[in-house]
Amino acid sequence: MSDDKKHGSGSVAAGDTSQRVGAEVVRERGGDPEELREKLVDAIGAEFTTYYYTTLRCHLAGHEDYKEITEDARLEDRAHFELVFPRVFELGGRLPNDIRDFADRVSCPDAELPTPQGGDEPDVTQMDTEDILEILLEAERCAIRTWSEVCDMTRDCDPRTYDMAQRILNEEMDHEAWFIELLSKERDGEINPAGHFVRGEPGDAPYSTNNRFNDSA
Ligand code: ZN
Ligand code: FE
Repeated sequence: MSDDKKHGSGSVAAGDTSQRVGAEVVRERGGDPEELREKLVDAIGAEFTTYYYTTLRCHLAGHEDYKEITEDARLEDRAHFELVFPRVFELGGRLPNDIRDFADRVSCPDAELPTPQGGDEPDVTQMDTEDILEILLEAERCAIRTWSEVCDMTRDCDPRTYDMAQRILNEEMDHEAWFIELLSKERDGEINPAGHFVRGEPGDAPYSTNNRFNDSA
């Protein structure tokens, strides 16, 4: 009988699908699964919206190397969203149904084209490369702060989320280093190496990749 086995039963009744042991074990270790999953929604919302680095990448005309590095960061942010969103469900949460609500609650500023001083709209024909690189850099820094906070929330209570967050953090720190290198050279004429060479495939996501996406086999 499972009754006499140490972990054969616990706080969730046998057969009860309204509760999840995967969330209750977090609570039993001092975590707050409801708070955590809402934090994860904010964090993966930022990953989902920074996947729209698309428009920034497209305005780096004349800098094929910058485009390629931006594309790696862009695709890896999608990998971060894909890695973590199932955890929201596992913790009893849901993704926002309205994509506008989702975008509004993200934990980082939108990664959008720079607007000239005093203007309301970006001048898409006169885009300043260093301004774009600075926006990319600050987006990576926001991601580092976000996933570091998730690591802090989960270190002692939720090894599964912690593992995801620390894998993402590895890549966000790569991304920061890449854009520090590019911005230092572009804006200041300074050599500030990241030690980076191209990922094996665009958006390789060496730490965070989960299952391969169908379109990148
Ligand atoms: Zn990311
Ligand atoms: Fe990133």
